Amino acid sequence: MSTPGAPPAPAPLPAGADVPWLLLWDIDGTLLLRASASHAHAVWDALCEVHGLQDRELLRNQRMAGMTDGQIAREILTAAGVDGPTVDRHAETVRDRVCTTYVPGDLETHVSPGLEDALRTLSDRGDVVHSLVTGNFERVARRKLQAAGIDGWFDPRVGGGFGSDHEDRLLLPATARRRAGAALLPDDRPWPADRAIVIGDTPRDVACARHDGVRVIAVATGSHDHGELQDADVVVHAAAEIPAAVASLVEAATGGADRDDPTGRPAGVGA
Ligand SMILES: [Mg+2]
Repeated sequence: MSTPGAPPAPAPLPAGADVPWLLLWDIDGTLLLRASASHAHAVWDALCEVHGLQDRELLRNQRMAGMTDGQIAREILTAAGVDGPTVDRHAETVRDRVCTTYVPGDLETHVSPGLEDALRTLSDRGDVVHSLVTGNFERVARRKLQAAGIDGWFDPRVGGGFGSDHEDRLLLPATARRRAGAALLPDDRPWPADRAIVIGDTPRDVACARHDGVRVIAVATGSHDHGELQDADVVVHAAAEIPAAVASLVEAATGGADRDDPTGRPAGVGA
């Protein structure tokens, strides 16, 4: 499925080319708002089927923002009294059941307001690559973006970091950098941490960026407000503000040397 206005598939960089900025987008609360109900039900149904859970209060009481799918499943099971080795033994089965049964419905009205214009503005810079860092299992993430009509911005060949890779979100940015580097950099090295930016809506997004040594923009469009996100490099209040936030981080990192100037002169230097 293609997304109108989405960029063409990224091509491997030629040797010696400047490394673009890898934007590592979170999904729930960042790209999409209030779009996780059917996802949560798929997790619950899998736990009922595999572990025989019945008390739906366990689902209602479970925090989910910023957590990986596997972590959410583990916490629900632990609250239900299931021991760790049993959780481990059936984790793959639970994941497969979630991915098989998840049906998102139409999520186009759940795209964060201004998000598609922000994606287009960022792509038009010519120096970014869009990727994902999300706690969703990858198949759930891809299906969710497709149901929202924005999957065309996130080429699967660039990879990403997903809840199906690790239960610990702290490890996901490095996974996404490794995959993007293997796909697009000439020597297959991991994407440089100083050329990556996590964009997410929870303190866990901020923490995983810090753990990997990458920059982070927090968007107060999910379940956390500005004060809870203040450890980010930049906090914004709407998707429309993200391009300016990226520009400010790039400017701060490069002193303007990355601006799209065919003369190669830093910004502010006369013609
Ligand atoms: Mg989120």
